[in-house]
Amino acid sequence: MTAPAGAPAPTPAVAFHEVEKRYGDTAVLRELSLTLPAGQTSAIVGPSGGGKSTLLQLINGVLKPSRGRLEVFGAPLPEDLPTFRRRIGYAVQGSALFPHLTVGDNVTLLARLEGWDPARQRARFDALRELMQLPVDVAERYPHTLSGGQQQRVGLCRAMMLSPPLLLLDEPFSALDPLTRDDLQAHFERLAAAEPVTVVLVTHDRQEALRLAQHLVVLEAGRVVQAGSPTELAAAPATPFVEELVRGGP
Ligand code: ADP
Repeated sequence: MTAPAGAPAPTPAVAFHEVEKRYGDTAVLRELSLTLPAGQTSAIVGPSGGGKSTLLQLINGVLKPSRGRLEVFGAPLPEDLPTFRRRIGYAVQGSALFPHLTVGDNVTLLARLEGWDPARQRARFDALRELMQLPVDVAERYPHTLSGGQQQRVGLCRAMMLSPPLLLLDEPFSALDPLTRDDLQAHFERLAAAEPVTVVLVTHDRQEALRLAQHLVVLEAGRVVQAGSPTELAAAPATPFVEELVRGGP
């Protein structure tokens, strides 16, 4: 889609400006300047230890940059991080559901804290349950009665309950067997098509990145070596790693 001539470029969902993150003497992220387009899925890809999770945790303010600055939704992170984080869904590897709460209570937890009335909670829960093709009786069940794939789908429902404009996913599909992972990726595609959400997906799985993302950010040893659409990266891969990523081999 091309913007009309003269129209200002849309505000990116996330912008890093020369961000550095250090632990003691070690720089984990260096000279990180990067924008993530709104309304798309961006995959942060790269070898283990490259700084992918660190990048994600800077976006929701769990970590603070050692240098540089970042903007989310067009503004620096506010002081009031709990309120800010209500606008950011977060799902991680292993669904991290509360085992002592029913699925319904897990998913609606934040909505209850926000003071949503029960009818609104129910309507949003049902819409997500249907989108994720979970059993009709799932609300009353406990997480341990569900399969791993179903639990992960519940985790996505919980992350999306408040209709956040931004969804952060840290290897959410990694610990699953290939068939379950494929099924979950298909459910993620349904979700991304149905909801107007910007997604930042951390993954080390090249097929997952290429399947789910329109924008790729390749991190190697704490630096962005290349960012762009899969087509752009395939046209001129900057490193052998990028070449292998987009073309399946150097
Ligand atoms: P990735 O997600 O790409 O595997 P991470 O962002 O988890 O990479 O980690 C990047 C580097 O930062 C790793 O070398 C890791 O050991 C280091 N690191 C992460 N968290 C901490 C911490 N709290 N203290 C010190 N080093 C850390």
